[in-house]
This record gives sequence, C-alpha cells and structure tokens, in this order.
Amino acid sequence: MAMKIDPDECTACGDCATACPNEAISRKRAYFVVNAEKCDECEQQESPQCQGACPGNCIEFL
Ligand code: SF4
Ligand code: SF4
Repeated sequence: MAMKIDPDECTACGDCATACPNEAISRKRAYFVVNAEKCDECEQQESPQCQGACPGNCIEFL
C-alpha cells in the first residue's frame, strides 16, 4: 500500500517531500508524486507524515 497525491489539488509546495522519512515523494512537473515502492505508509509513525504536512489536504491512501 501507499499514498496518492491528487495532482489537481497539489500546489507543488514540497512540504510533503520534506516530511517523508523514506524519501518517497518527489516532484513531477507541476505537482509531486509518491513512489509506491518506497512508501510504507509511515508504519513506524502514528500517521502518514506527508498527510499531516500537506496544507492542501490532497494526499490520500491509495
Ligand atoms: S506515508 Fe510516509 S512514507 Fe509514505 S509518502 Fe507519506 S510520508 Fe512518505
Ligand atoms: S504538501 Fe501537498 S500541496 Fe505540497 S507538494 Fe505535497 S501534496 Fe502537493
């Protein structure tokens, strides 16, 4: 499992990429994307760090 970023809502601020402990998020053109092979849904944390960091609330579970 992994997270998914809604490209229509993402403003490419980069906050999610900074928050991700697995370096699973990177920029793709005008928005950011999650690498599903690296994302473990933050199983070592209480909740997905990217979701908490996103000001646009545009990251959901796949
Ligand atoms: S859930 Fe965690 S590991 Fe997955 S993309 Fe978000 S911050 Fe990174
Ligand atoms: S924190 Fe949200 S708005 Fe910012 S780059 Fe990530 S998904 Fe896009």
